[in-house]
Amino acid sequence: MRKHTKEDLERILLLRREIDENGCWLWTGSLRYGYGQIMVAELGRPCTVSRVAAWLWMDFDLHSKLLVCHIDDCNRRCFNPDHLYVGTMSDNAQDSWRKRQNARRRETFGTEDRGEIRRILRSGVLGDK
Ligand SMILES: [Zn+2]
Repeated sequence: MRKHTKEDLERILLLRREIDENGCWLWTGSLRYGYGQIMVAELGRPCTVSRVAAWLWMDFDLHSKLLVCHIDDCNRRCFNPDHLYVGTMSDNAQDSWRKRQNARRRETFGTEDRGEIRRILRSGVLGDK
């Protein structure tokens, strides 16, 4: 596999991009564990496309131990910088925990319940002591 410089990578990423209905930039090149992957001269080894995108367009340090994560409902193959954020390992874990909690909350409370809660809060039944 050829090693690519930063300039090469920028060109290749944009060439191998397929934009879907969510605005995801889907990588059409080779994949590893469902993630886009490309050889990077800077590292001397392959790297995920989302990390490379963060490096090219988000001032991300390619050597950083931080993770490049995808926002909710985003495809693993996506490398749209608007859909990526930099996080730590624990951010990533907390994030998926928060997503699960939010999903559960949505099931528990419908919109009517939320209106009811707001009414209770406004009426001062709770809180005032
Ligand atoms: Zn996306």
